[in-house]
Amino acid sequence: MLSRMLSIVSSQPTGNSLSSSSRKDPVPVTRAEPLPNTQELWANHEYRHIMQMTYGDDMQDGMWICCCGAETHITHLTGPHPFQHLTCSRCDHVFCKSCISSPILVPITLNMIELMRILPSYEAQRLRVGQACAKCGLTHRATGDDVKFVPQCACGAHRTEDWVVFAICSPQGYHFDPIVTSVQLKTRWQEAKQEALHLKRSESAPAPEIIPGKGLKRSNAVRKARSNWI
Ligand SMILES: [Zn+2]
Ligand SMILES: [Zn+2]
Ligand SMILES: [Zn+2]
Repeated sequence: MLSRMLSIVSSQPTGNSLSSSSRKDPVPVTRAEPLPNTQELWANHEYRHIMQMTYGDDMQDGMWICCCGAETHITHLTGPHPFQHLTCSRCDHVFCKSCISSPILVPITLNMIELMRILPSYEAQRLRVGQACAKCGLTHRATGDDVKFVPQCACGAHRTEDWVVFAICSPQGYHFDPIVTSVQLKTRWQEAKQEALHLKRSESAPAPEIIPGKGLKRSNAVRKARSNWI
């Protein structure tokens, strides 16, 4: 773990590490999450000196792992586009429900928002919700007491069911240790991959054996079996 941390120390950029896509945005944006007092935060951290050297006053708020396995660290920004674009720099994939993310970005359903809204303690301002355009990955913050979503993205795409709805939750765990968060997420990603592979195998297991050229009677039986199976 220590060697891994040290390698990260040497590869950390020294400047502001807001996501590159945020630099393209002409509207000035600032961090939406207050940075913690790191001296307090890491007072009991085993590697507090390395944490301070590595991240100090310059850390992001969370991360996501693309379906391809590439990880992207993100910062929650003020304004209408909380994470700017959620697109993978390795494969251009737009953040989807199968991507794995830390609590700053939690995919939820529209039904969950309805449930949140009927809670007696409901406060619209506290309901931090957004959507990501499925075409270009631009994130859009929902606004108003009735949690309004934008109907259309700047890229021209209209809002559909494919747009991932997300809640913006706490950056605390990630702030405490981005590397531990990364390891946890990678483990979840690997488990999800294994599960998908297992599911694929078990789905293909009951496939009937198709023997071509065995006459009409046989091929009808095969066809029937296949139609049942499909
Ligand atoms: Zn990717
Ligand atoms: Zn994905
Ligand atoms: Zn778009």
